[in-house]
Amino acid sequence: MKRVACPKCGAYLTFDGNKYPVGRILVFECAACKKSFKVRVKPSDTPTEAKPALAYLSVIENSFHNQQVIPLYMGENIIGRYVKGTPANAPIVTTDPSIDTTHCIITVKRNKKQELCFILRDAPSNTGTFYHDTILKDADRINLEDDAIITIGATSMIFSLPKEKEE
Ligand SMILES: [Zn+2]
Repeated sequence: MKRVACPKCGAYLTFDGNKYPVGRILVFECAACKKSFKVRVKPSDTPTEAKPALAYLSVIENSFHNQQVIPLYMGENIIGRYVKGTPANAPIVTTDPSIDTTHCIITVKRNKKQELCFILRDAPSNTGTFYHDTILKDADRINLEDDAIITIGATSMIFSLPKEKEE
């Protein structure tokens, strides 16, 4: 549990950082003085040792958002524009209107050789998902390589494997 202090009266309240993606802004109301205030979830609030990231998406900064890094985990990683109550478990905090709230999906799984695979598909989305500037068809399943470039809306992301595994 993470403890935060009310900026007005200093009373403490706690929240479970594991429940929220890094970068999410949480709004609290102080039980003591009723002031509402915002807290941004930091990487240190979400322990990584329990659930190691298997790869990352580096979202390149543009006029809609700051740079951000999205960890990818085993199973389906649903990528889209963050909205309150989002069904995406790997959302991007952005105002880019051309990114759907569920835009594309990266499935992390093991193949028959027990090697990790990272499979990209369109959700489907309204504006499409691009892999190295080629739009995906609905049936396309792309096996992502390190440094693959994915573009959704006006936003580009670089897929990368953890660097310590590259040796
Ligand atoms: Zn207070």
